[in-house]
Amino acid sequence: MLRLHANDPLDKDAMKILEDSKLFEITAEHLDKDELLKKMPEIEILVVRSATKVTSEVIDAGKKLKLIARAGVGLDNVDVEAAKRHNIMVRNTPGANAISVAELTFGLLLSLVRHIPRGTYGIKEGKWEKKELKGTEIFGKTIGLIGFGAIGREVAKRAIAFGMNVCAYDPFVKETEMEIELVSSLDSLFDKSDVISLHIPLTAETKHIVGEKEISAMKDGVIIINTSRGGTIDEQALYNGLVSGKVSGAALDVFEVEPPSDELRRKLIGLGNVICVPHVGASTTEGQKRVGLEMAKIIVEECKS
Ligand code: NAD
Repeated sequence: MLRLHANDPLDKDAMKILEDSKLFEITAEHLDKDELLKKMPEIEILVVRSATKVTSEVIDAGKKLKLIARAGVGLDNVDVEAAKRHNIMVRNTPGANAISVAELTFGLLLSLVRHIPRGTYGIKEGKWEKKELKGTEIFGKTIGLIGFGAIGREVAKRAIAFGMNVCAYDPFVKETEMEIELVSSLDSLFDKSDVISLHIPLTAETKHIVGEKEISAMKDGVIIINTSRGGTIDEQALYNGLVSGKVSGAALDVFEVEPPSDELRRKLIGLGNVICVPHVGASTTEGQKRVGLEMAKIIVEECKS
């Protein structure tokens, strides 16, 4: 039996698949860094979501480690290079939570342009801000997607259904059958887009892909939505853009540091034209089930052979 430790919770049906396979001796509890380091020497399969940071230190301590299973897409919490050096497999579940993140993207966009959070708080506080809360339609507007992978494509489908024009920048995608325009540069995307939405992994190349210079190249009054990773946007540049009015609104699911610092709460998050949620893009019943089942199948498949 292989020793499998789930350091972040996995869907219960997924756990059942793992148990029923009879391949594993399973432990499941969240250990903090020091406790995990102590346990690593005995673990052969480590299952994580985004909370556990699988650093090179953790990987070095995994003397018997064969597989790191990341239930989800982003691998920015796993030191993939360190895993490669030790010949340890890293597997994730591409696409499994794309619908959840795409739906949240539209929830955020509509909340922003129709002032849903402010309307809610206003009424709860006894205000009736009907005149102040005039919104804008998204119909006929252009949404520019940075990254056209699984989530970008799900966002595009929904944008088309809302009557939006869609353009996308993704240097690794050369063609698509969808009715969208693939542009060859970020500048071209910035030129056309009323709304910019990020759907890229966080890597050395994409860190602060949206900064001061990029924001200044966008349309006046642009809306920025980030459901990818916090580090892809320079938060100070976004703050400056929002304060100057260049950016009319921002909706954020992700932050460079999570939970965000008090300073960020006072500045960027405190602005009236910023709405946010605490990294819940993939947190739906259906998304978590899909991710969990997919992950369990992959783990069993990898370990049978
Ligand atoms: P994906 O791998 O299917 O798509 C990512 C796309 O980004 C790829 O097509 C890739 O070619 C493109 N890309 C890479 N570098 C780029 C660059 N410099 N410029 C433009 N495009 C670039 O991944 P996905 O499932 O679409 O997820 C995208 C990201 O969303 C993930 O990496 C993750 O960070 C984030 N995510 C967030 C949540 C959440 O809870 N908010 C959940 C899932 C994923």
